[in-house]
Amino acid sequence: MTSIDGNTLVARSLKEQGVDTMFGIVGFPVFALAAAAQREGIRFIGMRNEQAASYAAGAVGYLTGRPGACLTVSGPGVIHGLAGLANAQENCWPMILIGGASNSYQEGMGAFQEAPQVELARPYTKYSARPDCAQRIPFYVEQAVARSISGRPGATYLDLPDDFLNREIDEEGILFPPRCADPSRPQAAPVDVQRAIEVLRGAERPLVIIGKGAAYSRAESEVRAFIEATQLPFLSSPMGKGVVPDEDPLSVAPARGLALQDADVVLLLGARLNWIMHYGLPPRFAADVKTIQVDIEEEEIGRNVPAEVGLVGDIRAVVTQLNEALHARPHRFPADAPWRAALGEKVAENRDFVHGMMQDDTVPMGYYRVLREIQEQAPEGTIIQAEGALTMDISRSVLMHDSPRLRLDAGSFGTMGVGLAQAIAAAAVHPDKKVICLEGDSAFGFSGMEVETACRYQLPIVFVIVNNNGIGGGFDALPDDRFQAPPSAYTIEAGYEKMIEGFGGRGYQVRTPGDFSTALEKALHDSMPSIINVLIDPRARAKPQKHAWLTQ
Ligand code: ADP
Ligand code: MG
Repeated sequence: MTSIDGNTLVARSLKEQGVDTMFGIVGFPVFALAAAAQREGIRFIGMRNEQAASYAAGAVGYLTGRPGACLTVSGPGVIHGLAGLANAQENCWPMILIGGASNSYQEGMGAFQEAPQVELARPYTKYSARPDCAQRIPFYVEQAVARSISGRPGATYLDLPDDFLNREIDEEGILFPPRCADPSRPQAAPVDVQRAIEVLRGAERPLVIIGKGAAYSRAESEVRAFIEATQLPFLSSPMGKGVVPDEDPLSVAPARGLALQDADVVLLLGARLNWIMHYGLPPRFAADVKTIQVDIEEEEIGRNVPAEVGLVGDIRAVVTQLNEALHARPHRFPADAPWRAALGEKVAENRDFVHGMMQDDTVPMGYYRVLREIQEQAPEGTIIQAEGALTMDISRSVLMHDSPRLRLDAGSFGTMGVGLAQAIAAAAVHPDKKVICLEGDSAFGFSGMEVETACRYQLPIVFVIVNNNGIGGGFDALPDDRFQAPPSAYTIEAGYEKMIEGFGGRGYQVRTPGDFSTALEKALHDSMPSIINVLIDPRARAKPQKHAWLTQ
């Protein structure tokens, strides 16, 4: 009999299904699985915490359209990996978590790190399973990969007991399913396409909202052609930025509040009416707003606001349908519409305000000056990872993207601590691009040790820590009795840049625009990762919002 060991069987199946990158931490019972993955041609990136490994796997899914894998040990390892599983599932990104497990024949006996792993993963997955026997591992791997990318993308979990992995299996009778196909691109019903166009024709104050579903679907050419043909004003969601360039004159991002509040028809291209979009409800939206929703997930249509038209299908396919219908009977939103003038006025007003803050060279710096420097120096195609409450929010309005899938952040689940891992994922799958990882000092702390990972793999990520001494900032000293310190305060002017030096990277601490500029230029040309620790004004804030509920 010829035989194959379980680890090789898992690794070969993953590779066959198009999984090229695996993040993880080895230990019982998956030591040999990581090595088998390397032998089968999967890139294994050893991380320092399973949470970070799982975040990285989701980001690979978003950036490449095939799931990244995260490998963890049993019990606590799987539980740490649930963080990224939930993050990927909430973002609709494909990933696969692979958890080692104690021996299947010791179930219920109190085995080492025994836990109900398949059940734990279930609420945050589209598919969570343990193979019924080692011979059928390829079937389960194919299912886990296929389900992660089909329909609405999401997370899957595979549970692999020690006795399945670390033993020889008779090759006879093992069936290898062929590589699962890339997801199909379903079209919407033609009658709905016509109705959508009629509703758009009747709109006085139309708005297109472009979400990360459009970026994931790689619909940029089609969406650009649609915006160009219809001349409709549009807004991009944080990760929808760049599907149509941020600097397109039809972008009304600086007038976001007015655009959402007064639009009478909103066309949603891969963006949910969830908390990020204030549920599509008043006071953020007009009470009688009509929505046209394009989404691959039928259950999403009409959530929170009944849809005037629901177009269920792949964004690229559906926008192609819209473009074809418009070709037959064009519709151009008029250049002299009062809505355009109202939006234009607001755009100019807010743009001037932000521009003013960006020019402010006062020391210590505020967010806008730091971001301006990044905007000016980042080469075309730079991937920006941004997190930390204010750092992330303000960067969304200041940093301009002219291509899609160049921004990563805390996403739909608002997960703090994804930053370093997502930056590592981006650098791993796009060695041709620069990656800037923009972190608040608090956000940085969640996975700060992954700086070692970036250095070890020589990924020349530029970590910029916008340091305001804690969560939300506001302090320049800690009381003598440290237990009386505000819960949101961290070490004042912490020397985060020093930690990277221990791993062979370069650290800079800066306070002035000039020093930041010099450090950033060096870091962008370095072959090793850098940390630039920017000590900003701990009281720096965002531009004041008109209504308190805008910041809720
Ligand atoms: P954002 O945070 O950018 O507003 P969301 O994550 O809320 O975006 O929404 C993305 C939506 O895109 C999800 O509802 C998801 O079902 C949908 N989606 C993902 N892939 C596709 C696709 N290929 N075609 C159509 N819709 C998609
Ligand atoms: Mg902070």
